[in-house]
Amino acid sequence: ATSEDTEEDLHNIIKDEEKVVGQANEHEFQAETAELLDIVAKSLYSENEVFIREIISNASDALEKLRYNRLTTDGEGGEAPQMEIHIRTDKYENTFTIQDTGIGMTKEELSSNLGTIARSGSKAFLKQVADKGDAGSSIIGQFGVGFYSTFMVGSKVTVYTKSHDPNSKGYSWTSEGGVSYKITEAESVMPGTKIVVTLKPDCRKFAEEETVKSIIKKHSAFVGFPVRLNGKLL
Ligand code: ADP
Ligand code: MG
Repeated sequence: ATSEDTEEDLHNIIKDEEKVVGQANEHEFQAETAELLDIVAKSLYSENEVFIREIISNASDALEKLRYNRLTTDGEGGEAPQMEIHIRTDKYENTFTIQDTGIGMTKEELSSNLGTIARSGSKAFLKQVADKGDAGSSIIGQFGVGFYSTFMVGSKVTVYTKSHDPNSKGYSWTSEGGVSYKITEAESVMPGTKIVVTLKPDCRKFAEEETVKSIIKKHSAFVGFPVRLNGKLL
């Protein structure tokens, strides 16, 4: 490979090489999570663009955790990965995709992190909704609903993830909201996490580069890692 190839590799746009293998296992969301998802998915929250801030912040946390792990495990884990956040907009597929080279998730972590609501903010959110008898739209902004905010704009969300532990396998997690999600083993998953959001018909603007670029500049200006949109550094 020439130095040009290397450069090209580092700055490439996201590729779709993952292949699910074997059987999909269906899991039910914890009741509170299903409740939260239902509210989030139905909400007409006008600032639904904040889902981008939420998933960039998760990607940044994942990179931070990887960096910390590498510092504390004495160079274990081989070659230093590229520490970047990649975002891709695809108008034809109507998708918004984010990929990080962060810590990734094991199968168990996938279920516990994306099947339950451990974060205190989400619990407080549900309580407010119950107390106010509100559909949630006016309260979402106050709390932020983390990863689940992807369901404000997505009719389907697919997560590919692989922990940096050399023995771990790659997995795909997918849900259309509702009460369940599926986990399937997957091949050719890059260490880290990739999230593909298939946009609802009225959320197609999040598949447009210019729109997404301005949202990132507005809400995610101070992320501690380089962010690339369709290969271009922001
Ligand atoms: P919070 O960030 O407040 O913990 P989120 O709902 O945003 O809550 O995310 C839930 C959890 O899912 C995170 O704590 C993390 O464990 C996991 N997670 C989400 N996105 C990623 C990612 N890109 N890489 C690794 N883990 C992630
Ligand atoms: Mg978060």
